[in-house]
Amino acid sequence: MVHDGNFIIKVRCNICGSVHKFRNPVEPRKARKPRGKKEAEALATSAIIWEAGLAGAKGKERDYNMAAKYRVGDIVNHHLFGKGIVMKLYANKCDMLFKDRERLMASANEYKRA
Ligand SMILES: [Zn+2]
Repeated sequence: MVHDGNFIIKVRCNICGSVHKFRNPVEPRKARKPRGKKEAEALATSAIIWEAGLAGAKGKERDYNMAAKYRVGDIVNHHLFGKGIVMKLYANKCDMLFKDRERLMASANEYKRA
């Protein structure tokens, strides 16, 4: 099979520390379509929670960086996932709600007993 220049490279990201697949950046990114009704409903639900969370979030807004500490209610701008809200803190990670779903993200937070 001949490669048509539609190459994919894996790069460790220096912003979030995870490995991303980078497609040829010239090619427009296709949005993934929900597979079924259930998945479409789940997406719609998380988008509603996400929007309400953004509207109610009182934390400061900044770009996501795995070396930063976060507080519940902070708003982060992730270079791949977009805007997220910090929902829960753990040792060295936190749950962030993005428009499509919640993700466990690396952070510099220390573990604190609730
Ligand atoms: Zn990244």
